Amino acid sequence: MSTRVEEQLRAEIVEAGRRLYSRGYVASNDGNISARLGESRLITTPKSVSKGFMTPDMMVIVDYDGKKVSGDRDPSSELPMHLEIYRNRPDINAVVHAHPPLATGFAVAGIPLTRAVLAEVVTTLGSIPIAEYGTPSTAELPAAVRKYIKAHDGLLLANHGAVTCCRTVMTAYYKMETIEHFAKISLVARLLGREHLISREEVERLQGLRGMYGIAAPAPLCTDGSDSSIDQVLCQVLEAPESSTERLVPDVSSALQRASRDGEIRLTYGELTALITDAVRNLKD
Ligand SMILES: [Zn+2]
Repeated sequence: MSTRVEEQLRAEIVEAGRRLYSRGYVASNDGNISARLGESRLITTPKSVSKGFMTPDMMVIVDYDGKKVSGDRDPSSELPMHLEIYRNRPDINAVVHAHPPLATGFAVAGIPLTRAVLAEVVTTLGSIPIAEYGTPSTAELPAAVRKYIKAHDGLLLANHGAVTCCRTVMTAYYKMETIEHFAKISLVARLLGREHLISREEVERLQGLRGMYGIAAPAPLCTDGSDSSIDQVLCQVLEAPESSTERLVPDVSSALQRASRDGEIRLTYGELTALITDAVRNLKD
C-alpha cells in the first residue's frame, strides 16, 4: 500500500515530466526522473514512455542496487546514472535528466556554462561543467557524472543532454529550467558579441546570500583552476574576473559612437587588434 509521501512523489514526478515535455526539454521517450523513497528505496520513471503523458501508477520502485521492487514496468535504462548521483550526494533527494536543446547544444559544442554572468545562476548552481561523453545506458555515463557531481547540482553531458539534482523533485526540475534559460541567454549574448562578467567579489557576495534563500552550496570555488586529471572534483571553476571592469569581449561601443552618419566605423589600432585577438580566440574555443 502506498503512503502519502509516495503518492506525493508520484504526483510530483508526473508534473515534472509534463513540464519537461511541454517546454520541449525532451522528445519522444527521452529523459528520466527519480526521487528517494526512504533509506532503501527509490521511485523512478519507467522506460519507453513519453514523460509528458505519465500517470502516477506507471512509476517503478527500485532499491539502491537498481533492482526492481515493485511496478508493472521496467525502470529507465539511465537508472545507473541516478544511482551514482545518490551514492555521491547524500544531501539530495531527486534527480532529473533531460535533453533541453540549447543546453544540449552547448554540450555538443563542448562549451561549458562556467562564466559568471547571471546572478540567479551564480546563486543557485554556480558553474555548470560538461561531463565527458559516455555511451548512454552503459557504465560509462555514471563514471563520467561521478567526476563532477560532488561539487555541482547541474551538469551538461557531452553530446547528450543535462542532469540536475536537488532536495526535491520540483527543485531539481527548476534547476533544469535555469540551465536551459542560462544557455539561451548565453547564446544570445555571444551572438551579440559581448558578455560582461560578474566580478569575483560580486560572485562571493551572491554566494553569501545562498543561506538567506535556503539554497545549499554544493561546493566552494576552486582557488587555482581545476585539475582535469583528478578522479573527482570537489570545487567549482567559475570564470569571474578580479576586476568588475574586465570583459571577455572587448568593448567597442566608443568606436561605434564615433561612427559617422554614413555608417563608417573608425577603430583605433588598439581596438582593431583587440577585436582580431578576440575573434581568433573564439575560433580556437
Ligand atoms: Zn538522455
